[in-house]
Amino acid sequence: MARARHEPVRTCVGCRGQAPRRALVRLVRGPDGLVGLDPTGRAPGRGAYLHPDLACVESARRRRALERSLRAHPSEAVWERLRAILSGPAGAGQAPVWSHDRPG
Ligand SMILES: [Zn+2]
Repeated sequence: MARARHEPVRTCVGCRGQAPRRALVRLVRGPDGLVGLDPTGRAPGRGAYLHPDLACVESARRRRALERSLRAHPSEAVWERLRAILSGPAGAGQAPVWSHDRPG
């Protein structure tokens, strides 16, 4: 098919594996220094990526990968929200549930 457009590839901070950016969950450290989820993938600030997989989330948490990558400490609420999203109906291994904002 004619979808040969180059996908930007990012590294998951949980397992260090690479994946197309839109298949990953982005976390961002905002100007206020707080870490949050970035549903749009376009928020300004330092970003880090995770597979939408609980194993990667837990691995990143244990190894403090986000702290290192973002140089900020994600609050418990951030982890809880990640877990809630990944435990949801979309399930692990699927694209993030918020990807519906992409037309098509
Ligand atoms: Zn991963």
